[in-house]
Amino acid sequence: MAKQMRAAVVEHFGKPLTIREWDVPAPGSGQILVMTEACGVCHTDLHAARGDWPVKPTPPFIPGHEGIGRVVAIGAGVTAVKEGDRVGVPWLYSACGHCEHCQSGWETVCAEAQFGGYTRNGGFAEYILADPNYVAHIPDGLEPRHAAPIICAGVTTYKGIKETGARPGQWVAISGAGGLGHLGIQYAKAMGLHVVAVDIDDGKLAHATALGADAVVNAKTREAVADVIKVTDGGAHGVLITAPSLGAFKQGVGMTRKRGTCVLVGLPPGEFPTPLFEVVANCITIRGSFVGTRRDMAEALAFAAEGKVKADIELQPLAAINDVLERLEHGKVPSRVVIDIAG
Ligand code: NAD
Ligand code: ZN
Ligand code: ZN
Repeated sequence: MAKQMRAAVVEHFGKPLTIREWDVPAPGSGQILVMTEACGVCHTDLHAARGDWPVKPTPPFIPGHEGIGRVVAIGAGVTAVKEGDRVGVPWLYSACGHCEHCQSGWETVCAEAQFGGYTRNGGFAEYILADPNYVAHIPDGLEPRHAAPIICAGVTTYKGIKETGARPGQWVAISGAGGLGHLGIQYAKAMGLHVVAVDIDDGKLAHATALGADAVVNAKTREAVADVIKVTDGGAHGVLITAPSLGAFKQGVGMTRKRGTCVLVGLPPGEFPTPLFEVVANCITIRGSFVGTRRDMAEALAFAAEGKVKADIELQPLAAINDVLERLEHGKVPSRVVIDIAG
């Protein structure tokens, strides 16, 4: 019988996860086995567990795509990592490596990409099987618990801010100051941008100010869009929407400066109305952004290793996962919960 590990498993969409035994996977040729130390809980895990999106994972599966740990076994032919290396197993679990997009450094949109904690089992478990060519390499000195949020929330917001095209000295508006947003604010400041943080929760906004936001706006007020236009003197050059709420998307487009770019990263299921005349007449770009490439990952981790960005974390045991997901659903997680798997 295979060795057993503890895992949090989605057995049925919309039902609590089951904490149960699961076979420790054996690394085949070209694969590695990672012993998990810590794994962050992303709002995407909630979408995954509910089956929110058009492309669905197949239960039973183990969510979690912010898993950090040590490589404990390597399959035949693996040279990219060695036993003992500390790695992260991210959302971009693997890609084909040879299609048009992989060749041009856009492996994130590879049609054959696999997703950690979604189409492949993830980090809410004591071990994770991984592809050594796509793991994140965790810099020395960055603790697993602090590295965890960087490998999804960090890289996604870092990349998303780059995709706005905003330059140092210009304004970005970051809508949603939760797991993604609290890191996005710090990346934007480290990148020399002015930041206005937008959220519906005054506690999150107070925290955004503490993290360096130059201004904050409560999205629930009727003047939210006008307030952002006012503080940015004409609209934000770049807008990054991380909020998992459709209402934030129309608002975000309205907050965008003429010729600015509104980058969509939040993924609530559904569609949002686009004010065509404003978008056309103001030459606004609306752009999607999906995690980040391996280069973006290395850069995002370097900011954290240099201490320019620090994830604000709350540690919880694996047994608390359902409570954590419920709090996440209701906006009750201050920044990021990290599951202390090793502890
Ligand atoms: P989170 O729950 O930690 O944070 C969401 C924040 O948005 C909370 O602070 C909440 O108060 C705020 N919010 C809710 N409604 C709002 C509104 N109308 N206006 C402004 N703020 C509002 O979630 P998270 O882990 O940061 O993830 C956010 C979203 O990003 C999820 O939909 C997730 O699936 C998605 N995501 C996308 C990518 C990608 O690559 N595009 C990567 C990771 C996560
Ligand atoms: Zn994520
Ligand atoms: Zn490819």
